[in-house]
Amino acid sequence: MSATVIPLDKIIPEAQKVIRHLTRSGHKAYLVGGCVRDLLLGRAPKDFDIATDATPSELRELFRNCRIIGRRFRLAHIIFGNKIIETATFRANPREDEEGAPGPADELYIHRDNVFGTAEQDARRRDFTVNGLFYDLAAEQVLDYVDGLTDLASRSVRTIGDPNVRFREDPVRMLRAVKFAARLGFDIEDATYQALLSHGKEIEKSPVPRVLEEIFRLLRGGAAVESLMLLRECGLLDVLLPEIAPQLAEHPGLLDPYLQEIDRSVASGDVPVNAVLLVSLFLPNLLSLFELETRRQAAPLDHISDMLAPLCARLRVARRDVDQAKHLLLIQRRITQARMRGGKLPPSTLHREEMRPAFGLHAMVYRVQRLAAGADEAAIAQEIAAWPFPGPYLLGGEGDGPRREFAPDREPRGGDRRRRRRSFDGEESERPSVPAAAHESTPAAPNRAASSGDDEPLLDEEEAALAAFVAAMRSGRDEE
Ligand code: ATP
Ligand code: MG
Repeated sequence: MSATVIPLDKIIPEAQKVIRHLTRSGHKAYLVGGCVRDLLLGRAPKDFDIATDATPSELRELFRNCRIIGRRFRLAHIIFGNKIIETATFRANPREDEEGAPGPADELYIHRDNVFGTAEQDARRRDFTVNGLFYDLAAEQVLDYVDGLTDLASRSVRTIGDPNVRFREDPVRMLRAVKFAARLGFDIEDATYQALLSHGKEIEKSPVPRVLEEIFRLLRGGAAVESLMLLRECGLLDVLLPEIAPQLAEHPGLLDPYLQEIDRSVASGDVPVNAVLLVSLFLPNLLSLFELETRRQAAPLDHISDMLAPLCARLRVARRDVDQAKHLLLIQRRITQARMRGGKLPPSTLHREEMRPAFGLHAMVYRVQRLAAGADEAAIAQEIAAWPFPGPYLLGGEGDGPRREFAPDREPRGGDRRRRRRSFDGEESERPSVPAAAHESTPAAPNRAASSGDDEPLLDEEEAALAAFVAAMRSGRDEE
């Protein structure tokens, strides 16, 4: 990192507008958090957040395009078309607001987080020094209350304040430390790392949905290989993913080829759906589901359940993701069959958008196996290009590329959203459309003629399970 002046053209105009309007109205308003960190590192921020001394009601007065969200801590979404600028009032760490020394260790956990404060308090309540920087647009200056610039320059993840306290206040911060270290290629500062080693077990105190979401973020953050390695090294993997930790302790690089594929796909803008992420954690044990005869899985659904069910139950994975994961796996042998023998996929199955991650997963496993066999990239790409299915083979969901967490779905339902679309097997049908994406215009590749009856039948159980999932997914979708 060299300069601490951020060129204006790197800051989206909507964020500039919000800041200018606030400062002209006599308020303090700064860019804050991940966007300042990323801009100073020369990276493109995921989103632009603003911190201000204006209260939520003042924000509502000042901006017509403002929606106040959150029950515990109210913050403002200022909406410009499909962009949202999250604007939050400065707040303090609720512990600092209280009189006297902090209570016993168990009392550190923060249950509420809704106390307004000053800019400095707002910086200090944040998790890591590199996430605690403000940027003052008018002064073209970084406001650094937490010595974040030093850590940014030395590429170090350090908690603001005592890591033993900060991790116990909110154990999810430990996963965030790993995420930032892996994604930014930073080291974890010594005391912070020691605290990770000491307090890993406390992750269990965090709400399960937050932990699950943080696992998905680690996997889809573009540095899944590095993240899993770090989790293993600091012992967090045993707490976070006990279902796979013992196997990885024995074979540390086991998942790397698959996670590399995931990182590669994220880098190209194709962010995998949760079901693919889930499946990828168990892939080495699921390969028999891709095989035709020799190593074919006898009771596929039982096998899938044996693998996925404990983790899905413990982390309360959404039913929709679990069903999609099962479907992704159950359809693989059919895809192998159609690919190798030019056979057709069953006409009853899902539509092209819904099938996309199944083909993506198939291509991912194929690439891993061909790379392991010594094939070169160009040859593999050619082989995959010759498959008789409509590409491209993406791990992401409904053709919307990278997830846009900040973009609300403002498309009207029904009406002209409904248009004829082609299922992967060429069948035309009436389905609600998804937002247009570049590859939408890619015509479906014609399927080769159905092979003449030498297709291996699916096992009864496999066929029944597949049909049941298709029905369940369709009815789930129709309810939406
Ligand atoms: P990303 O690029 O992944 O969005 P980010 O730093 O913007 O990274 P967010 O999860 O979007 O991370 O959070 C925004 C900011 O809020 C962080 O930079 C940090 O200052 C603060 N923050 C988020 N989570 C916590 C937490 N658990 N404890 C303290 N501060 C937090
Ligand atoms: Mg962010």
